[in-house]
This record gives sequence, C-alpha cells and structure tokens, in this order.
Amino acid sequence: MTDATELLPCPFCGGDAEIVDAVEAGSQAKVVCCKKCMCSSRVVFALMDDVIFDLVSAWNARADLARPVTVAEAAKVLIAEINRPATQEDKPDWRYLSRLDLPSLRALSQGGE
Ligand SMILES: [Zn+2]
Repeated sequence: MTDATELLPCPFCGGDAEIVDAVEAGSQAKVVCCKKCMCSSRVVFALMDDVIFDLVSAWNARADLARPVTVAEAAKVLIAEINRPATQEDKPDWRYLSRLDLPSLRALSQGGE
C-alpha cells in the first residue's frame, strides 16, 4: 500500500506525477499533473479540507484502474461474475471488468499464467 500522499505513476504513460499550484477563476487551487505527458487530475480548490488527500486518492484510484490486471485477477473477476446469481438490479462490476485488458484475456484464453 502506498503512503497517503504518494502519487502512483501516470495511468496513461507511466510517468511521474506531482501536485502543482494552479489558479482557477482567480482562486488558488491544486491539481495533479503528469510530468511526462502533462495530463492532469481535476482541479481542487485550496479552500477545501484535505486537498492533498483528496487529490492523491483520486489520482491513485485512476492509476490503479489503468494498471494491467494479472491473469489471476482477471480469472477471479470472471469467476465471480459467472457465479453471481442474477437479480434485476444486479449489474456486473464494470469498474473491475474494464480492467480486463487484451493481454490478460489473451493469456486467459491460452490458459497461461
Ligand atoms: Zn502521463
């Protein structure tokens, strides 16, 4: 697990990220930026409590979703979906299903590790 203020690598390019000061509509704000591809998080106004924690958690959640899943993780998600009884309001957990990337699915289909 990472420190509460430690930023995971950029979900798009894997570059290092940093928290930078910004001015949005004349107000002080902070934003997480990738030093390599310059993508950024949403802007959070400095007036809010726990600005850094909020920014870091949001960035790290996105970075974690972009991480390629292992075959074991992919298999676990698929098995859970297959075994889950269907109810009317039951929906697949797309947040995790969306992490099933092509290399993982390919590896699963080939029965590899
Ligand atoms: Zn990047």
